[in-house]
Amino acid sequence: MLMVLNSCRNAETKEESGAKKIPASTIAETIKELESKFPSPDKDSDKDLIRRGVELTAGFWIPSDGSPEEFKTFCLDNYNPQNRKLLLERFSKNLEAVYGCFMRIGAVVQFPLHVGNDPLLPADKTFAAWSPGAHLNDDWFGNKLAMILHLNFPYYSPEERNAGGLAWNDEENAAVNLGLYFASRVPGSLQQAASEIATRAELYVSDYNIYMHNVVDENGRRYFPEDMRLISHWGLRDELKSSYADKTDAGLAKQKLVFDLMLRIINQDIPREFVNAKGNDYCPTNNKFFRDGKEAAFERENDERYARLLEVFRAEKSFDEFSPLYPDAIRRAFDQGLEMTFDEVEKIFTTVLSAPANKRIGQYIARRLGRPLLPYDIWYDGFKTRSSVSEAELTAKTERRFPNAEALERKLPEILQFLGYSKERAGEICSRVAVDAARGSGHAMGAGMRGDISRLRVRVPETGLNYNGFNIAMHEFGHNVEQTVSLYDVKDYLNSGIPNTAFTEALAFIFQKRDLDVLGVVENNPDKQKFTDLDIYWGAVEIMGVALVDMYAWKWMYANPEATPAELRGAVVAIAKDVWNKYYAPVFGIDNSPILAIYSHMISYPLYLAAYPLGHLIEFQLEQHLAGKDFARETDRIYSIGHRSPEVWMTKATGSKLSPEAFVRKIEGYEF
Ligand SMILES: [Zn+2]
Repeated sequence: MLMVLNSCRNAETKEESGAKKIPASTIAETIKELESKFPSPDKDSDKDLIRRGVELTAGFWIPSDGSPEEFKTFCLDNYNPQNRKLLLERFSKNLEAVYGCFMRIGAVVQFPLHVGNDPLLPADKTFAAWSPGAHLNDDWFGNKLAMILHLNFPYYSPEERNAGGLAWNDEENAAVNLGLYFASRVPGSLQQAASEIATRAELYVSDYNIYMHNVVDENGRRYFPEDMRLISHWGLRDELKSSYADKTDAGLAKQKLVFDLMLRIINQDIPREFVNAKGNDYCPTNNKFFRDGKEAAFERENDERYARLLEVFRAEKSFDEFSPLYPDAIRRAFDQGLEMTFDEVEKIFTTVLSAPANKRIGQYIARRLGRPLLPYDIWYDGFKTRSSVSEAELTAKTERRFPNAEALERKLPEILQFLGYSKERAGEICSRVAVDAARGSGHAMGAGMRGDISRLRVRVPETGLNYNGFNIAMHEFGHNVEQTVSLYDVKDYLNSGIPNTAFTEALAFIFQKRDLDVLGVVENNPDKQKFTDLDIYWGAVEIMGVALVDMYAWKWMYANPEATPAELRGAVVAIAKDVWNKYYAPVFGIDNSPILAIYSHMISYPLYLAAYPLGHLIEFQLEQHLAGKDFARETDRIYSIGHRSPEVWMTKATGSKLSPEAFVRKIEGYEF
C-alpha cells in the first residue's frame, strides 16, 4: 500500500510542483518591468521589495494558475507600492474577521465537548473535529489573494526580523508579519496522507502500555501492584520519579527496572508480545521472557518505533517543495513555529548544558540520595517544595471562595486587583474573560478578534473548586490575561499576539506561581526560591538534552532520507549517546547512556520539545525583570508589545535579548 501511495505522490509531485515552473528569464523580465513601472532610483529597498515579491510569487505558482506570460501579467497588475498602505489595512481587517470568526465558530461547535455534564451525542465529536478554516489556504491560493499578499508583502527570515525588528514602526512590523501568512501550498492529498500517518504514529505512542506486575527482576521478584499499567514514556517516567519517595531498597529496585525497560524500548529488543499484554513475565535487565511461567524465545519489537518516525519524516518531507518560505521540516518547526532558528535554539541549550553549575548540582543530588548518580537521575524530583499548609486546608479555602464557575468569574477582578491592577483596569480585562466549568482538567481559549471574549475553562466539582483546580485556574487565567492584552491593546491586528507558544506559557507560569499569595497563604521557607529555581533548572537540563536528540535525529534523517528503521535506530542511539557523553557524562560520571532517546514526543510530536525549556527561560527572564517593579503596569506594557521576533520582543520587554545567561548565573550563585 505504501508503495502505491508513494508512486501516486511522485506522479502528483511532477504535475503540481511549482518551484521551477516559471522560467528564470520570465522572473527577470517581470522584475525589470516592475522596476521601470515604479522607478525610485534612490531607494534600493523598493528594488529589494520587487525582487523578493516576484521571486516568492513564482515559488508558489503552479501550472493551473496560468502560463509564465500570465504570471508576468498578474505581477504587473497586482504589485503597486502606492497602494501598499491601503492593501495592508485590507488584509489586516479581513484576516481579523476571517480568523476571528473561525475561532468563534470553533468555540461554539466544540462547546459540548469542552463544557458541562450533558450527555455527549455522537454528532458532538464530529462537530468538534470539523475545522471551519480547513479550506482557507486552498481558497486563497485558488483566487490568488495569497499571491497578492506574497507579491506585495514578502517574507523576512528570523535573522532579518531580529536584525531589523527593533527599528520597525507598527506599520512596518505589520507588513512583515503579514508576509508570514499562507506560508505553504501543500496539496490536500499530501496533507491527508500526512494526517493519516500522524494518526498512526500517535496511536502507536498512545497505545504503548506496560503491565508492570509482569515486570520482574533477575530473581523473578515482582515489585509493582497487580493493576498497574503504565504508558511509555510518560507513565514509566512518573513511576520512576515517584519512587524517589520510597527510601527502601524496593524504591531503588523499582527505578532500575523501569530504567532497564526504557533502554529495551529505545533499543527495541523488548518482546513484541509483552507490549500491551498482561500475564507473561519479562525481565528487562537480562531480557528474558517467560511464556506461561517458562523461559521462552521471543520476537523483539523490531524497530517499529523507528519505522513510525521514518513515516512521519517522509510525510513531512513531501511538503518541502510546496513550502518555499520554509523548505524543510526543521525550518518549519523552528523558523516558522518558534520564529527562532535551529542554531539560535541549539546555542541556548548547549550554553545551559555546558554550565559548570551542572556538575555541582549533580554532586548535591548524589549527596541527598546517598549514592552515586545514575542516568535516570535526570528525573530527580527532590527539589519540589511543599506548602506549609496542607492541601485539605487549601481546598477548604478555595471551595469556600469559589463554590462554582460563576463565583470564579465574578471574583476574577479581585484576583487581578490583588496582583496590583487598578479596579478599573481589572474590570476592563475581566469583562473580556468568561469562566466555564470544564469536562477536562482545564484550558484557556483565546479570542481571535476584537469584540470577542477569551474563555477560562476549569473543572469545578459539586463541592466547589478544589485547590488543584484553583492552581490550574490561575495558570489558565494567566493565559486569558495575555490573550486579552495582546489582542486588545495592540493597535494593528497583524501585530497582535506574542512570538510563539513558549511565550504563551510564560505569563501562565507567572500567574500560577502566585496562587498561594492570592489565597492569602504566607510561606516562610527561606529556601523556597532556591529549590524552586533548582527544580525548574534541573527539569530544563533534562528536556534540553532530549530536545537536542530530537533535533539532531531530524538532521540525520534529512541527510539519510532512504534509511531503514534499523539504521535510524542505530543513528538515534548514537546521537543520544553522543549528546549524553558531551553534556551529561561529565556530571554523572557515566558514559554512553542512550536514555535521552526515550521520549514519545519524538515519535508523534516531532520537533516540539524545544518549546518547554524555552518557556521556563522566558518566565525566568520576565520574573527577573518584574522583581521590584509595578507588576500590573509592566505586564500590561510587555504583553502589548505584540507579535515581534522572540529576540526583539524580549529586548523590548526586558532590555536584553532572550538568553539563558541570567538563569545560569543565578543558579551558579546558590550555595548547596
Ligand atoms: Zn498553559
